Amino acid sequence: MAFVADRLNAVKPSATITVSQKARELKADGKDIIGLGAGEPDFDTPAHIIEAAKKALDDGFTRYTATNGIPELLDAISEKFKRENNLDYAPSQIHVSCGGKPVIFNAFMATINRGDEVIIPAPYWVSYPDITVMFGGVPVFLDCPASNGFKMTPEQLDEKITTKTKWLMLNSPSNPSGAAYTADELGKLAEVLLKHPHVWIFTDDIYEHIVYDDFEFHSIAQIEPRLWERTVTMNGMSKAYCMTGWRVGFAGGPENIIKAMTKVQSQSISHTAAVSQVAATAALNGPCDFISKNNKVFKERRDLVVSMLNQTSGLNCPTPEGAFYVYPSCAGVIGKSTENGQKILSDEDFVTALLEREGVAAVHGEAFGLTPHFRISYATSTDLLEEACTRIQRFCASLR
Ligand code: GLU
Repeated sequence: MAFVADRLNAVKPSATITVSQKARELKADGKDIIGLGAGEPDFDTPAHIIEAAKKALDDGFTRYTATNGIPELLDAISEKFKRENNLDYAPSQIHVSCGGKPVIFNAFMATINRGDEVIIPAPYWVSYPDITVMFGGVPVFLDCPASNGFKMTPEQLDEKITTKTKWLMLNSPSNPSGAAYTADELGKLAEVLLKHPHVWIFTDDIYEHIVYDDFEFHSIAQIEPRLWERTVTMNGMSKAYCMTGWRVGFAGGPENIIKAMTKVQSQSISHTAAVSQVAATAALNGPCDFISKNNKVFKERRDLVVSMLNQTSGLNCPTPEGAFYVYPSCAGVIGKSTENGQKILSDEDFVTALLEREGVAAVHGEAFGLTPHFRISYATSTDLLEEACTRIQRFCASLR
């Protein structure tokens, strides 16, 4: 009898985590590696957030907290939703967990029955399908190629909805493509969703603040308030606030689902770290001018990477509206071989050979459900990015 539970049979380890870990290990072995695998800002957590955390520890704030989060943080999140998204979520309609991933995990564990379908537009963040599968759900993929700006159309969405559809996953700006839906585009998707009242919407807004070229972010329940009662709006501190390691994600939603998510959490992690909750409260209530400063740097890096990759033979790199990823096509190198005769038959072969030959770590597109592509996170120093793109150019030029 197998020791590992059947439910894990169809679950893959997270490709983003695997690539980041591999790059870390190779570096620790003394190899010259440029890690563009992890979606993690290279900026430090702002000093006022760290100070608030230090003070909390000095004041002895080291004990268990309420499962759903400390009242000050729930208030700060409630105010954030109102201030930034014009969304009304009372503290009792808010759930706090250890990052975005556990929020999705709690929501899906609380709601997915065997056979329930989750519509996942591809390319998607690697964890959506696997969390779905873990709870017996069925991911239903919807192809959003670069020619559609990596976005779904209302017609495509309508076609995929069945009586078994439980959730639609939305993620704008998207990981891995950086594509973001305009208010108008969201409005058109909302029209379809209004026709199907049994479908819930899980919107992962974690890249909300990281947008460029005057793009205006909107969240679906803000655009169509009639969807509020079946939308979970997720966000978190990791990306814009440069707080990846603090592990704070949160969601607003109707009280019945928030209660169910809290029940799950009460039997698992209890709550995220007390000190992280204080830090997140200080972050949401404090100054946030650093976000636009960081975005300026991210935008310069985006433009650099897009331009250098578009000058690379065999690659084609669309310009994303947000997040800190690019998702170039590598269709032009498929079928070629490296100098030592390794055949590049897939995007996975491409990133593997790139890591071996040039020490650049990126994530293969197959993990995000749209091939042949690869994802580069440009949340790293401009010098390193320039060097990485030079290596990618050299590698692609060497393929025959
Ligand atoms: N979300 C980031 C990424 O896609 C962090 C790693 C993860 O949790 O997947 O790289």
